[in-house]
Amino acid sequence: LSAEEFRELGHRMVDWIADYQARVESFPVRSQVAPGGVASKLPLHPPEEGLGGVRGWDSIFKDLEDIILPGLTHWQSPSFFAYFPANASGPAVLGELLSAGLGVQGMLWSTSPAATEVETRVLDWLAELTGLPEDFRSTSATGGCVIQGTASEATLVAMVAARERVRRLGAPVDAEWVAYASTQAHSSVLKAAMLCGVAHGSEDKAHVRLIETDARYALRPDALERAIREDLAAGRRPFFVCATVGSTSSGAVDPVRAVGEVLARTGVRDAGGWLHIDSAWAGAALVCPEHRGLLEGVEVADSLSFNPHKWLLTNFDCNAFYTRDRKALLDALSVTPEYLRNSASASGAVIDYRDWQVPLGRRFRALKLWFVLRHYGAQGLRAHIREHVRLGECFERWVVEDERFEVSAPRSLSLVCFRLKPRLGETPSDTDGRNRALMERVNASGKVFLSHTVLPGVDGLPPRYVLRMAIGSTTTEERHVRAAWELLTASAG
Ligand code: PLP
Repeated sequence: LSAEEFRELGHRMVDWIADYQARVESFPVRSQVAPGGVASKLPLHPPEEGLGGVRGWDSIFKDLEDIILPGLTHWQSPSFFAYFPANASGPAVLGELLSAGLGVQGMLWSTSPAATEVETRVLDWLAELTGLPEDFRSTSATGGCVIQGTASEATLVAMVAARERVRRLGAPVDAEWVAYASTQAHSSVLKAAMLCGVAHGSEDKAHVRLIETDARYALRPDALERAIREDLAAGRRPFFVCATVGSTSSGAVDPVRAVGEVLARTGVRDAGGWLHIDSAWAGAALVCPEHRGLLEGVEVADSLSFNPHKWLLTNFDCNAFYTRDRKALLDALSVTPEYLRNSASASGAVIDYRDWQVPLGRRFRALKLWFVLRHYGAQGLRAHIREHVRLGECFERWVVEDERFEVSAPRSLSLVCFRLKPRLGETPSDTDGRNRALMERVNASGKVFLSHTVLPGVDGLPPRYVLRMAIGSTTTEERHVRAAWELLTASAG
C-alpha cells in the first residue's frame, strides 16, 4: 500500500470500527454460529493473486460483515456479563493502532528507548494510582514493574523467580518443589507449575497443593500452614504461594497478611519462599481508595499482578506486573547472547525488558495504557470502577428481593454469583439442572451473555452450580443490567 492508499483504507477501517461500536448492541451477544460455520465460508486455499489496490478491499469489508461479525461473541457489548470483562476503549484502541503503525520492537532499551521508558513511567503512575507500596516501583532500590501479556505469564515469571531465589539460597536444583494456592485460584497457577517442571501433569496434586477455603471462598491460612509443615517434614521444598485477590469464580479475596505470616512462621520466607498476588481482575478497583482494603498486607508480598485489560479500559493484552525483588526475576530470566550486547545495556543504566519476561520480543504496549491514563485521568478511572460496583450492588439487591433467587457468595465489587433457590424436596443436581437451563435460555436469546461456575459446598453442603453476573463492559449502563435481570426473572419459570 502506498501512504495515500493506507490513509484511505485506514480512515475507512476506523469508520468501520466506530460504526461497529455504535451498533454492537444490535448483535446477539454470544455468537450463534455452529462449529465450522466460519471456516466453511473461507476458501480452502490462499489467494494466488493479491487484491490489486484499494478498490479490491471492498471484498474485505464485505467479509467483515458476512463472515467475521456473525462469528463474534461481542465482548464490547454492554450486555456482556460473562467471565470477566475485557474492557476496550477509544484511547486504548488508538494506542494499539499506533503501536502497530510504529512497528517497533522493544526487547532492549536500545531497540527503542521510548518503548521502555514510557512503559516504566506509566506502570509507576499506575502503582501510585492503586496505592502500591513504594518498593514495588521502578524508583525503588530493589523493585520494578513490567507489562506482561497476561496474568498467566505474570504468575509463571513469579514462579521461576521464586525457584531461582530459593535455589540460590541453598536448595538443590533437583529439590522436590511445592507451590500452593487455594482451590479457588486460577488454573494458570497449575499451568505455570507444569511449564516450569514443578508439577508433573495437571493431576499432580502433590506439587501444586490447592488449599481449602473458608465460607467466603478465601484461602484458609491454617490449612496452608498444615500443608507446608507436612511438606517440610517430608523433605519437600515449599517455594511459592499464590494468594488470589478477586478469584475467578466468585471474586474471593485471600488474606494476604495472614498468608505472609504463615510463610514467616514456617521458615519458608527465610529460605527465599515467594508470595505472589494474583489480582487479575480486582486489582483495577484499587484505583479507588475505598477498595484498597482488598490488598491489606500487600507489603509482605514479593510480587503482584493485575490486568488493565480486564477492567481498566485497556484492550487485551496488558498485564501490570510488580515485584519487590527485580534481581530474583533477572537471575531467573536473563540470558545474554553476543548479538544482543550493546553499550547501553552494559552501562547498567537502562532496563532491558527482555530479561523480565518469557519471550525476547515485545510490542509497545505501554502506548495504549499511556493514552488511557491521560485520556481518563485518575478521576475517570475511578468513576468507571465506581459505576460498575454500584450496578453490582443494584443487581445484588434485586436478587435478594426476589424470593425465587439467592446470592450464592458474598458480592465482590461488581461480580454477583447467584442462582435459583432449591425447591422443597428437589435434589441438588435438579437445582443445578434448573440453573443450567436458565443460563442456556437467556444466553440463547442473544440479548445477554452470562457464564457460570461451580462453588464448593460449605458446612457439609454439596458444590453448587451458580450463575455469574460480571458487570464491567465499557458501555454498560443501568438499563442494560436491569434488562438482564428482567430477562432472567421472565425466563426463571
Ligand atoms: N487469574 C485470575 C484471578 C483470573 O480471573 C484470570 C482470568 O480471568 C487469570 C488469572 C488469567 O488471566 P490472563 O488471561 O490474563 O492470563
